[in-house]
Amino acid sequence: MKIYNTLTKRKEDFVPINEGKVKMYVCGPTVYNLIHIGNARPMIIFDTVRRYLEYKGYEVNYVSNFTDVDDKIIKKANEEGVSSEEISNRYIEECKKDMEGMNVRPATTHPQATREIQGMIDMISSLIEKGYAYAVEDGTVYFSVKKFRDYGKLSHKNLDDLQSGFRAIRVSGEEQKKDPLDFVLWKPKKEGEPFWPSPWCDGRPGWHIECSVMAKRYLGEEIDIHAGGEDLIFPHHENEIAQSECCNGKPFAKYWMHNAFLNIDNRKMSKSLGNFHTVREIAGQYDLQVLRFFMLSAHYRSPLNFSAELMESSKNALQRILECAEMLKDRKNSGAAELSEDEKALLLQADSFRQAFEDAMDDDFNTADAVAAVFDLVKFANSNTREGCSGAFAAELLKKLTALTDVLGLIVEKKEEILDEEIEDLIAQRQAARKAKDFAKADEIRGRLLEMGIVLKDTREGVKWQRA
Ligand code: AMP
Ligand code: ZN
Repeated sequence: MKIYNTLTKRKEDFVPINEGKVKMYVCGPTVYNLIHIGNARPMIIFDTVRRYLEYKGYEVNYVSNFTDVDDKIIKKANEEGVSSEEISNRYIEECKKDMEGMNVRPATTHPQATREIQGMIDMISSLIEKGYAYAVEDGTVYFSVKKFRDYGKLSHKNLDDLQSGFRAIRVSGEEQKKDPLDFVLWKPKKEGEPFWPSPWCDGRPGWHIECSVMAKRYLGEEIDIHAGGEDLIFPHHENEIAQSECCNGKPFAKYWMHNAFLNIDNRKMSKSLGNFHTVREIAGQYDLQVLRFFMLSAHYRSPLNFSAELMESSKNALQRILECAEMLKDRKNSGAAELSEDEKALLLQADSFRQAFEDAMDDDFNTADAVAAVFDLVKFANSNTREGCSGAFAAELLKKLTALTDVLGLIVEKKEEILDEEIEDLIAQRQAARKAKDFAKADEIRGRLLEMGIVLKDTREGVKWQRA
């Protein structure tokens, strides 16, 4: 399996630090508003990477943070006259709803910056002790970029170029820093802002330190994959490397993966440009599975331009997969139970689509080609599943199809929802059957409910039920 590593600018063989296990960290959103579909791109992409790693047999520890202390959150809180905590909690919950709609699985851990302040203070103290950071008079702590010889290795920038770029920019309030390149680890509180006590001043952390601390706490000093959108390469990820490697004395992440932008009219979709669609807005027009399909139809390192036409064609394409799955499901329960010799041969042939799918995913998660392999399987199933084919044949094809769509996080087999009233109704019918001493019918209804995941309990107060 090969992964394109931003650090080396090459596709490399994937070899995890510990055999069979993958430690993966993905920078998550700043929670001050509903997420937009640009933010959804890394969520869907790296969720798919995680699913494929698991499909290949790896045990994946997947950590993704919520940045819940930030200027934008504070601004929003002040506008609404509520606390920053209320804003971030609200939008974390909303973000989780969107994730569920897009079938993005919850991370193993979703740490929040405000709950990791002590860890950040400890790491900053250690950086000061080792000579990589310094506090100035007002209590601000800066990281000394020039002390870290490898600075720039991820973004492939050299210090001299950076230096000349920065000389021109003077940030007010930062006159005390020793070098224009130095970045903030801790800053003093301002009126109306949340703050925490620290050895330097009451204040709050800079942005970059949270990820170094959370990655270390939940995954360890050395991790396998660190990921996020390409706008994070510089300065965020570059600064994370500087903090982690200077503090721990070890290489931080082995593979750095970055998704390209989701654009609209060929410009990056972003809150600040105002050219965005929220995931919630899209959910009002489409099943979010369509959005997921749209994201996977391009390679993650290629820019993707959002358009109504592309969403429509994604909807139609997804529909073809769903119809094929539906057809296989219908046929599964009819016809012969045994495979014919011809069908056995066809199934061997169908294995080539799984192989093509894996080849595509092994090549730096080429989901565009992987989706094409799924369509080849759909075409094959449609043309080889005739009236009179065995149920076993349809069942095997459906299994092959769902194995692949599961990796992509596309749901083709919807679990049938059963409503409370339907359950109550069936229970009433069962009671009536029992009263009429028709125990066979009563048992049959209990069996039907069980198949739908409903367990009945006969108690003194009557029949109780619960979802299994
Ligand atoms: P933010 O909330 O801005 O920190 O962004 C959260 C994640 O979304 C980061 O990984 C960003 O790189 C990513 N992101 C933001 N905008 C876009 C976009 N238009 N296309 C792709 N990724 C994006
Ligand atoms: Zn981060």
